Amino acid sequence: FERMRQGLSKTQASLVGRIDTLLRGRKEIDADLIEDLEEILITADLGMKTTQDLVAVLEDRLDRNELADGEAVRSAMQEELTRRLEEQACGPLDLDAAKPFVLMVVGVNGVGKTTTIGKLARQFKNEGRSVVLGAGDTFRAAASEQLAIWGERSGVEVIRHSEGADPAAVAFDAAKAAVARKADVLILDTAGRLHTKANLMEELKKIRRVLDREIPGAPHETLLVLDATTGQNALNQAKLFSEAVAVSGIALTKLDGTAKGGIVVAISNELKLPVRYIGIGEGVEDLRPFDPAMFAAALFD
Ligand code: GDP
Repeated sequence: FERMRQGLSKTQASLVGRIDTLLRGRKEIDADLIEDLEEILITADLGMKTTQDLVAVLEDRLDRNELADGEAVRSAMQEELTRRLEEQACGPLDLDAAKPFVLMVVGVNGVGKTTTIGKLARQFKNEGRSVVLGAGDTFRAAASEQLAIWGERSGVEVIRHSEGADPAAVAFDAAKAAVARKADVLILDTAGRLHTKANLMEELKKIRRVLDREIPGAPHETLLVLDATTGQNALNQAKLFSEAVAVSGIALTKLDGTAKGGIVVAISNELKLPVRYIGIGEGVEDLRPFDPAMFAAALFD
C-alpha cells in the first residue's frame, strides 16, 4: 500500500492536495466553491463527462443541505469517485477460465506495451504457470528483441518471426506452440500502428480469427495498454481502439510519473472499460491488479 501511495503521489497532489487546500477550514459551501472544484477535477484529467457528473452530484447534495462543511465535501468526493471506479471493476484475470488462456495485447508504441507483457509473463511464471509469448509486433524489430530478452530472463518461450512478417502468422504459430506445449497462458503482442483505423481493425480482426480457429473462444482477454502520462490522449486512444476491436480491459502504465492519474476515473466512468492493471514503477511487481478501494484510499486517506 505504501508503494502505491508513493507511486500515486503526484496525482494525489494534483487532485486531493488541491481539493484539501480549497476546502481547508471551510464552514460554508456555496456554488462558487463547487465551480473551483470543477476546475480542479478538469485539470486533474478526470475528463469533461466525469467532472460534470461529479459536479451534478455535489450540487444536488448541496441543495439537500447534505454538504455542511469542507469535510463533508471531501467525503462526498471520495465516495463518488470510489463508486464510479467500483462500477467497472472486474478484479484480476481468471487465468483458469481456459487452457491455454489467451491474452491479446494491443496499444500504440511507447505506452509500455512490451514492458507490460514482460511483467505479466514473469508474474504468471512466478505463480507457477507455463507461459508462451507471441511477438506479434513485427513492424518493430526492437519490440520483438525486447520480448525475447524478457522471455530469456523469465524462462518463457517466445515465438518470433522476422521483421515485417504477417502478425497473423505469428499468432498462428504462437497458438500452435501454446497448444503443443500445453501452456497455461499465451500472451500475444500486436503492432500498435494507428495510422488508419480501418487498417488496424482489419489486422486485429484477422489475428482474432486466427486465434479463435486454433483455440476456440480465444482471445479470452483483449488488454489495451495506455500511458497515463498522456492524459486525455490516452482517453482518445481508448475510444479508437474500442471501435476497432472488442477491448475487455485496460492496463494503465506510468502512473508513478504523472499528475494525470485522474484518467483512471475517466476511463472507467466515461468509456465503461474496466481497468485491470496499473503500472506504478519499472519493477516487475509494480504492475498491479487494479483495486478501486485501495486506489481511492491511496489518494484520500
Ligand atoms: P512499448 O513501445 O509500448 O512497447 O513501450 P516499452 O514497453 O518499451 O516501454 C517504454 C518505457 O516505459 C520503458 O522505459 C519502460 O520501462 C517504461 N515503463 C513502462 N511501464 C512503466 C510504469 O508503470 N512506470 C514507469 N515509470 N515506467 C514504465
